[in-house]
Amino acid sequence: MLPMHSFVRMLAVSLLMTGFGSPTSAWGGEVPSLSSGGEEAVPVNVSVLDNGFPIRAFSVSLPPVDQADVFMDFVANDLAPAGINTLVIRVNWDYDFESHPELANPNGWNRRQAAKLAALCREKGITLVPLINLLGHQSWAGKAGKLLQVYPQFDEKPHVKLPQEYVWPNPDRLYCKSYCPNHPDVHAVVFDCVDEVVAAFEAKNFHAGLDEVFDLADINCPRCGGLDPARVFADEVNRIVAHLRPQGVRLWMWADRLLDGRPDASGFGEWSASLTNTHRAIDWIDRSVMMCDWHYRDAEPSAVYFAIKGFDVVTCGWERPDITQLQLDDMLRFRQHSSKHLSKRFKGYMQTVWSSFGQFLDEYRNGSDKEHCAAGNYRYFKSYLQRFSASGAETSGAPASESAPEFGI
Ligand SMILES: [Zn+2]
Repeated sequence: MLPMHSFVRMLAVSLLMTGFGSPTSAWGGEVPSLSSGGEEAVPVNVSVLDNGFPIRAFSVSLPPVDQADVFMDFVANDLAPAGINTLVIRVNWDYDFESHPELANPNGWNRRQAAKLAALCREKGITLVPLINLLGHQSWAGKAGKLLQVYPQFDEKPHVKLPQEYVWPNPDRLYCKSYCPNHPDVHAVVFDCVDEVVAAFEAKNFHAGLDEVFDLADINCPRCGGLDPARVFADEVNRIVAHLRPQGVRLWMWADRLLDGRPDASGFGEWSASLTNTHRAIDWIDRSVMMCDWHYRDAEPSAVYFAIKGFDVVTCGWERPDITQLQLDDMLRFRQHSSKHLSKRFKGYMQTVWSSFGQFLDEYRNGSDKEHCAAGNYRYFKSYLQRFSASGAETSGAPASESAPEFGI
């Protein structure tokens, strides 16, 4: 396996010497350009990177169409040279759907634009993973998403009205609305949209979100009331897997509902884990699912839990380089110290961006005064990969053999 000890040590020393702890100080004064950032001066060694982090992912919402060219420039001239090999793009309902014009955003991306991005990613060796939030995240603050605007009958909790002024916490415990996964008509609609987006982006992987689902198995739902929320959740995940599998498409999901967040369990709480008894679904979910295990404030060890349960797992960070460093180091150690069966399931790291792409790019180009910033974290992630690549990671140079996931036709 991978003798990573010395690389991790070297990186730690190096970061101390460069004053790491304040990422802006480490990189201060430089105005990055998209095509000639200092970190990309030396081309990365993809074989070395593949040994340490088979998946090096970047996740962001699809930008408005008028930023498509800038976005593709970023993909071609920043992500690709940095060694990023996976792009998770959050499409959601912001797409000009042909299969369901009633859900279409005519100003959203369409098939032609999607094909252009797909071709670019193919050329650059980047796996494109489109995302549509299924189940949860069907509203935001006081506004229903397009699906529930058009099909309010799919609402799991229609008796909870969206407020004029949204606040959290609130008596209804309304975070985001969900569709009812047991409504007899919902999948005919949402799966058409999934299929259209998967085809348009020529994808073999689809991310269904599935995070932060609070509205689930509601007692007042005529279909779900009284059901075990873990069973309802697992059934929906497996339904999506079963729909995608014949197309040779693999499901990805945010993994938070599968962790027990209670203080006497993980203690992760109700956001990056579950307090609603959905966590037991982990034993009922198809093991082909790629788990995206996100922790933004601490480097939690839950990737190990998913791997032991038999899932491939990617650790996801956001805006804190000190946490990202620990997460990346952990990923290397987990791969190094585990059995061959377990080791191969630790797949890598995903940089998530939760602002718009435009805001991210502005902060990336021009810097930011924010204490925590996705652009700064991405810069750190890139620098880590650069140093890891340059170290050679003391490997023989042969890329790790990553077997195809055990799913498909
Ligand atoms: Zn229901």
